[in-house]
Order: sequence, then structure tokens, then C-alpha cells
Amino acid sequence: MSNIKNVQCLIIGSGPAGYTAAIYAARADMKPLLYEGLQPGGQLTTTNEVENFPGYPDGVTGPEMMVQLKDQALRFETDVRAGFITKVEFGADIHKCWADDGTEIHAETVIISTGASAKYIGLESEQKYLKMGGGVSACAVCDGFFYRGQETVIVGAGDSACEEAHYLSKLCTKVTMLVRKSDFRASKIMAERVRKTPNIEILFNTETLEVMGDDVGVTGAKVINTITKEEKVIPCTGFFVAIGHQPNTAIFKDFIDLDETGYIKYAQPGTSKTNIPGVFVSGDAADKTYRQAITAAGTGCMAALDAERYLSAKH
Ligand code: NDP
Repeated sequence: MSNIKNVQCLIIGSGPAGYTAAIYAARADMKPLLYEGLQPGGQLTTTNEVENFPGYPDGVTGPEMMVQLKDQALRFETDVRAGFITKVEFGADIHKCWADDGTEIHAETVIISTGASAKYIGLESEQKYLKMGGGVSACAVCDGFFYRGQETVIVGAGDSACEEAHYLSKLCTKVTMLVRKSDFRASKIMAERVRKTPNIEILFNTETLEVMGDDVGVTGAKVINTITKEEKVIPCTGFFVAIGHQPNTAIFKDFIDLDETGYIKYAQPGTSKTNIPGVFVSGDAADKTYRQAITAAGTGCMAALDAERYLSAKH
């Protein structure tokens, strides 16, 4: 028999959004229960140095910042549990959620902070340097600064890839953009901007065969032209992947309104409300535009305040 736990507030996910929601909810005496999810600490645990989160003048590593956020949530007695939610059944009054540890949670409010996962090409060499923190990144805004004055490669052909290539072009001596088809998927205006940037070289019909490197990090990308079959090595110290993100929202799809790519839709812009009263969303699960730790934290705060107001109005 499962073990039933009644809570005022369940927070799903442990990135900056989830922990900020927990800090606010705990300080409002909502005694939040937080499930960390499959990647405790979220996407920031795969980044090296975070230099753009206000309040850290000397920067901080992603994992270190997540430990601090967790400690801050624990200080106000958030019940933080390792594990993940496998199923939900959102109702009119009580929202039921099941965790992989056998707990059945009956929550008056739920804050979804499950985030999104960057997609990677899936090459063994790409994953090796990603895990090493040695030159593979899925976020130019986060990591571009480390490659200033150097040469980088970026994979992708959508709006994100164009935006990030342009961002990198201001920092790097040269950016090589690898587009697997014969044209961009990005909007005309974004593609045009990239085309007109002198230090961005676009290679169409080009796929990556291997991310090359040494003990320190990336040194190049071995690529192939899929039409001519010509192979070559492009020297670079940074290998950026911008081929899209997948929001972690699949378990909510029967209850929560999602857009065509799986992002949760806000029921009321400017709030954290979803289409289900009492269920709120924060962070990247609903944000395909900004995707920053600071914006996730901001919306985590909004979700906790909205949940608190919802409970006050109900009781
Ligand atoms: P998209 O899904 O739009 O584009 C992904 C790109 O990655 C496609 O060009 C695709 O190529 C390419 N790709 C996918 N898999 C691989 C692979 N294995 N190897 C090489 N290339 C691959 O994702 P985005 O993140 O760019 O955009 C997501 C959404 O956010 C879009 O709706 C976009 O318009 C929006 N957005 C808007 C911005 C803005 O307006 N400022 C900025 C950023 C995003 P292919 O074309 O061959 O399928």
C-alpha cells in the first residue's frame, strides 16, 4: 500500500526555479515538499562557472550554487526528497502525485519546476568533453565569455543557433556554423543577420563526425559535407550545440495545456498560473525564450507567491 502524504505545497524539480519557490513557500509557512527529480540541481549542474547570476562578484560554479540554493531551502525546513514524480492526477481541489519512492502525495498546490533539457547530437566525443567541462556547451550566453578571442563552432540552424552564433561572433575571432541541411530553419531575419556577420562562416550540408580534443579540452571538430563526402577538421576551442531544448513536461500532458513543442502555457500572462487552479509553473518548463537561472529563480518566486495567495483565498 502506498504511503499517503498530505501537503499544502508540492514543488517538482530542483533547479533555481524549484529552490527559489521552496525558499518563498517555506518562509510563508506552507511547509513545502520538494522532489529533486532526475537531475538534482537541474541544468546548472552541467555548467562550469556561472558569472551572470547577480550577487556573485567572483562567479560561482553551477554545482556550488545549487548546493547553496538547496541549503537555503533546507534552512527554512523545506522537506527535500531525492526521487522523482512518475504520475500526476490534477483535480479540482486536491492534486494527486505519485513519487518513485512509493509516496502518494495529496497536494493543495503544485509548483511545476521540471525545467527543460538541452538536446545534444549524441556523439561519444561530444558527451566526453561535455562531462569534462572541457569545451562543449549548449548555452552561448552562459559559456561564450570563456571563449573570447578564440575560435568556436556552433551546430544548429534554428533561431537559437542563429541568435547564439551572433552572440558568439561578438566575443570570438571566428564562429563556424554547421547546418545539416541546405538551408536554415530559422526565421529569415535571424538567418540574414548571421549571413551578414563577417566573422561567421556558415557550412551547409555539414554534419559533425567527432569533437576532437586533448586532456584539457576541445581542439577542433571533424566534419563531413554530406553531398561531396569531403571531410575536414575545423580548429576550435568551444563546440556549441544549439539544436533545441526539450521541456520536461510529458507527465503533465493529460492535465496541463502545452504548446506544440511541449512548453507549459501560462493561463494568464504575467502570472505563474496554469489552466488548473492550484497548479503553477516556474522556470524553463514554460520558458523557451530566456532560459536563464535568474529568470527561472524569478518565476519560482512568482509561483510561490501565487500559490500562497491561492491558499489564502481558499481557507
Ligand atoms: P528548433 O527546433 O527551431 O531548431 C533546431 C535546429 O537544430 C534545426 O535547424 C535542426 O535542423 C537542428 N538540428 C536538430 N538536430 C540536429 C542534429 N542532430 N544535428 C544538427 N542539427 C540538428 O530549435 P530552436 O532552439 O532554435 O528554437 C526553438 C523555438 O524557440 C522556435 O520556435 C524558435 O523560433 C524559438 N526561438 C525564438 C527566438 C527569438 O525569436 N529570438 C530565439 C530562440 C528560439 P533541421 O532544420 O535540419 O531540422
